[in-house]
Amino acid sequence: MLRGTVAIVGRPNVGKSTVFNRLIGQRKSIVDDTPGVTRDRIYGEVEWLTQSFRLIDTGGIQLENQAFGDEINMQVDIAIEEADVIVFLTSAKEGVTSDDALIARKLQKAQKPVILAVNKSDNETLQMMQYDFYQLGLGDPMVLSGAHGIGIGDLLDKIMELLPEKQMRSYDGITSFCVIGQPNVGKSSLVNAILQEQRVIVSNVEGTTRDAIDTPFKYDGQEYIIIDTAGIRKRGKIYENIEKYSLLRALQAIDRSDVALFLIDGEKGIREQDKHVAGLAHDAGKGVIIVYNKWDTVDKNEKTMHEIETKIRNQFLYLDYAPIVFVSAKTHSKVNQLLPLINEVHDACCLRIPTNVLNDVILDAQMLNPPKPHNGRQLKIYYASQVAVEPPTIVLFVNDPELLHFSYQRYIENKLREAFLFTGTPIKILARART
Ligand code: GDP
Ligand code: GDP
Repeated sequence: MLRGTVAIVGRPNVGKSTVFNRLIGQRKSIVDDTPGVTRDRIYGEVEWLTQSFRLIDTGGIQLENQAFGDEINMQVDIAIEEADVIVFLTSAKEGVTSDDALIARKLQKAQKPVILAVNKSDNETLQMMQYDFYQLGLGDPMVLSGAHGIGIGDLLDKIMELLPEKQMRSYDGITSFCVIGQPNVGKSSLVNAILQEQRVIVSNVEGTTRDAIDTPFKYDGQEYIIIDTAGIRKRGKIYENIEKYSLLRALQAIDRSDVALFLIDGEKGIREQDKHVAGLAHDAGKGVIIVYNKWDTVDKNEKTMHEIETKIRNQFLYLDYAPIVFVSAKTHSKVNQLLPLINEVHDACCLRIPTNVLNDVILDAQMLNPPKPHNGRQLKIYYASQVAVEPPTIVLFVNDPELLHFSYQRYIENKLREAFLFTGTPIKILARART
């Protein structure tokens, strides 16, 4: 479970991305195999002991054609807005600079815990520099060397100590979903259309929402919550058009949701930036439904839907598990399909397969199509066990995990999907050596 969000801030070249990569580590997941998804990454999940948190490198959010000072200001604003804990990175090599002092002043005013870390403290001499940093007025500096891996464990301990106790997900037992997509795809129109559907009763029960902007409602006796992705309205629209920032906002909403509705603008068709949004949805390991909106504007015949489906499948290969629906938020056409489908997808995310049934399917799959030998050695799956839900996570106990190739993992996944109702949920398949 995610404990919260941590942001790294600091002027350019202090080592933000080095420390970011060090903290993210070599965490292996199915996502890392997805081309294009991990490129230019400014966010990730960090696991430490039994817990995890979301990490943002604000240095990756950049303004075009803006003065350097504006950019740092924006990065610090975003960190203050989005993070539960801020790591302020400085450098022992350069000592305290005027930009550091500027950032420190902004952070002092923020009502957020700040960890002051002096990076590039590679050796004892450089580590002596830490005392200089007391002048920033942010308490005891921590010595760190992202490049040499010094102080990383202490930093992680400190972050864990400062993160709020409560977990990010606070809607247990209620299906929550968000609507994500590029500007103008029709996100707010769709939210309104869902809320205006017959039999939807919007509740105003105080205390049911973590944020005033999330909307709880009932439909057919069941409770739902729409998680808001609107962005920082109170700051005006200054930063909302920065793609990386809007993606970050979407990610924060996905983190708090069970299911994400990924919207495509049917009037414009699939666009390049849709892929970034889709990548996020897939990355987060949550349920996904692809919603082709503005269907009313599409000039169509009996083949159109099938043609568009094929296009979507080709463009978003890694989302092959996500169902596709064609709706119009304007005319409400097919909007009533969404809530039942959200239920189905959430159920799939939570599905637990009994161990014996799971093993029957995997052993059958293995017999039907045995793994091909590599360098004379063949993968042998002894047994399987589902170790988690949301997303369903299956561990294969094998002779040698290195022998599980991506194509065979895909094959096993397809067999599982044929056997069980995994609509809309990613499945994680891991291999471990049988001990
Ligand atoms: P950013 O602009 O803040 O993201 O900084 P980078 O992570 O790109 O690092 C800037 C430069 O500092 C790179 O050349 C890094 O290799 C170097 N660097 C990062 N961390 C350390 C460190 O702990 N020690 C030393 N000596 N160099 C580092
Ligand atoms: P958001 O920025 O993603 O929240 O998009 P909005 O909900 O604000 O919608 C952007 C524009 O698209 C508005 O002018 C909407 O009226 C229009 N729009 C949204 N959904 C539909 C639809 O299904 N059909 C048509 N024709 N227009 C739509």
